[in-house]
Amino acid sequence: MSREWERYEQVAAELLNLIANELGVDRFEGKQTIPGASGTHWEIDAKGVTEDCERIVVVEVRNTKARQSQAKVGALAFTLLDTGSDGGIIVSPLPLQAGAKKVAAHAGVHHVQIDAGSTPRQFAMKFLNKLFMGITVSATARAEASCVVRRVCKQCGQRFEVAENENVCPACANT
Ligand SMILES: [Zn+2]
Repeated sequence: MSREWERYEQVAAELLNLIANELGVDRFEGKQTIPGASGTHWEIDAKGVTEDCERIVVVEVRNTKARQSQAKVGALAFTLLDTGSDGGIIVSPLPLQAGAKKVAAHAGVHHVQIDAGSTPRQFAMKFLNKLFMGITVSATARAEASCVVRRVCKQCGQRFEVAENENVCPACANT
């Protein structure tokens, strides 16, 4: 992983925490792997969660020179579906391609545009046509328990905390 890439990911994480409330969550957790209903696991760049862990959004950071394509956003859309997440955020330096915008809107994926040259303390960022400029960011270390992915039980319809690829909640599994 290059220095520039690492720095971009760090800036993205700090900026997302700064506007967490506007993105419908309270905080963001870092890189992690979460289980999907398909039986596979997904490596994600960050995870936005509410304090009660009721809402989970998957974050993908893509520091590329090209605009994100509909195939790339489609892959994230499937990750959301498979993990039962409530939404997604894609972070990249450039606007999405036209087809990618449509897929994003349809799948509940927000695009957060962060310039490649941004630094943690001095940046320009476009989000929902708002421009935040030069806001000073102070990163604070957080040591909080991670939110667990929840899925709707195929039998009773209640949301339950998922360990692997189970489709029914522990209560239904035991009957
Ligand atoms: Zn159940």
